[in-house]
Amino acid sequence: MRFKNLSQLKRPEPLTITLSRLPQQILMTVYARDKAFKINELIGAIFEESFEWYGFTLAHKDHPELIEDIGLPQNDFNLQDYTTLGSERIAEFQESLTEDVIINGWIHSHGALNYKHFSHTDEKNHFTVLDFVASRTRKPLAKKEVSVQDMVLLQKDRFEQKDIEKGSVCLITDGPITEARIMETVYGSFCYSIVIGDTGWHEQQIHYRERGILSGHMTVRSQAGKIEFVDTGKSLSQVDIIALNDEVKEKIKPHTDPPPELIERM
Ligand SMILES: [Zn+2]
Repeated sequence: MRFKNLSQLKRPEPLTITLSRLPQQILMTVYARDKAFKINELIGAIFEESFEWYGFTLAHKDHPELIEDIGLPQNDFNLQDYTTLGSERIAEFQESLTEDVIINGWIHSHGALNYKHFSHTDEKNHFTVLDFVASRTRKPLAKKEVSVQDMVLLQKDRFEQKDIEKGSVCLITDGPITEARIMETVYGSFCYSIVIGDTGWHEQQIHYRERGILSGHMTVRSQAGKIEFVDTGKSLSQVDIIALNDEVKEKIKPHTDPPPELIERM
């Protein structure tokens, strides 16, 4: 048998049926944005200096794409500890939240520094957060055909040992069939990362993970994303600011004399 060209040898593209999509941009309430920058401001006022801090972006479990609030965990004064954001730390914070609130990302501030990008350390943290939040932001994205070479179709109670020895995958059905396609669900998860600075700048990324339930095929990727600020009518009130001021005093413990090697951690 001769082929005219190589394209005739290619297997047909696996069939994919899209079910839903992961967010292509970040949705954040005006309240959450104002709260993040207010934390920067309060740190400056309380400690008379600018410090870095980190927190989690929070969403309602029924609407995981929308950042509704900022959660401030206990920030360590040993700076090295949160260079690498551990999953236990995230779990601990998730446990402190009410049942309908989920973490959908993390946010941190570079304070007064003019370093307006994510660092290598930040990159590692993105994936720690993604690993943790993946099960909570997960949804079915597609049904995708699993290409099976050499599939053997058998009929229930009508095959012998020698039949099942053949092929790479056997599909046993209750009636005679001549063709079958196996479609697996591809689940997708995401998390957000936002870095901000005292002067009002922000940079952000979305991290994605997709996994085929049957093939186990997994892909992880990141992309820079725009933020769309959503005005839900909720604003940061004076009462909120007083409470946030107390929270900052309690949870931000600046290290006043960091060892020099830690200064590079950003
Ligand atoms: Zn950073």
